[in-house]
Amino acid sequence: MVLESMKQDPTRLRIPGPTPLPPQVIAALAQPVVPHRGEQMTPLFHELREQLARIHGTSGEVFIVAGTGSSGWEASIVNTLSPGDQVIAAVNGGFGERFVDVAGRFGMEVIRLDAPWGTPIQPEAVQRALAENPGVKAVQVVHNETSTGVLNPIDKIGPIVREHGALFITDSVSGAGGAPLRMDEWQIDIAFTGSQKAFMCPPGLSIIAVGERVWPYTERASIPRFILDFQRMREAAGRGSTPSTAPVNLLYALKAACDMMEAEGLDNVMERHAQLGELTRAGLQEIGVELLAEPGYYSPTVTVAVLPEGVTALEVQQLMRERHGIEIATGMGPAPVRERVIRIGHMGWTHAPEMERTLEALDDVLEHVPARQVAAD
Ligand SMILES: *Cc1c(COP(=O)(O)O)cnc(C)c1O
Repeated sequence: MVLESMKQDPTRLRIPGPTPLPPQVIAALAQPVVPHRGEQMTPLFHELREQLARIHGTSGEVFIVAGTGSSGWEASIVNTLSPGDQVIAAVNGGFGERFVDVAGRFGMEVIRLDAPWGTPIQPEAVQRALAENPGVKAVQVVHNETSTGVLNPIDKIGPIVREHGALFITDSVSGAGGAPLRMDEWQIDIAFTGSQKAFMCPPGLSIIAVGERVWPYTERASIPRFILDFQRMREAAGRGSTPSTAPVNLLYALKAACDMMEAEGLDNVMERHAQLGELTRAGLQEIGVELLAEPGYYSPTVTVAVLPEGVTALEVQQLMRERHGIEIATGMGPAPVRERVIRIGHMGWTHAPEMERTLEALDDVLEHVPARQVAAD
């Protein structure tokens, strides 16, 4: 069942992914299927990979994989590491935590580098952790922590990890396409994202950018792999294809989205996201709602707000839906965060009017939550 309000206005989807689909992407999805290999798909595939490489700021390979953003975690581990390898996992939110889980399942020796939720991972902390653990093979830091609305300074962490000789892996699922990402310049070896966040597409694709330094690691990595094997992906990509049947219509959609981003200009896309973040934070502060993220590290794609005492995220979410037809997300992680924060996405096909409407709706909802009404009586 599709919510009536969404049918009338898809921009009311204000969760941090999946995000609203622009009409160009919807039209692309509706095209007929063509053979997944051959003269129709091959040029599109090559062009798409070049566009994605520009968007990621890399001269390396970009693979498009049928799977969600999380496939990137698994792919980055199974292609480069072996059980028992030491990896540093930076954890300042729910997605950092998830990498700990995934790496642990594959038998890695995971060294946690924790920072309080809402604060960034500091480059100096990564430096210290590497100095204390000289055998570390890889470091993972989430680019944009969707659970807290913190943008980690991966530009400053990359060179530290490179200096040490380890691989630097970043989960940029809610970053790439909305927050600047210059893989080569920032010395990032693997960055992965999903189609349903700043890339304005439906869920279903993982986009995995792989730098040159990764290839020798793929020779040594001992975990068996098939679907997520980078070498198979590279061979197929050279022929303008994917190892298994490409999700043709999702590739059309991603192509339409990348065309839109390049037509707007990548710098303009980034600037629009930065401004949407500013507008959202200013609006929240105006209605008396605190931000979870530390100033200076605000995400341009998602804002996480701490609700006033006595107001729960679930009731705000429900009232936003019932009174305004707007979908927002509750918190992630441990109960105090999960129940006390709301997460508002402003990435992808998003402009100022939608955010203004969301903020007005939230102001109205906060006036009408039962706890407030009791307090006002
Ligand atoms: C959404 C998100 C994911 C998970 O993506 P899926 O497509 O659901 O697998 C991972 N990391 C971050 C930072 C995200 O925002």
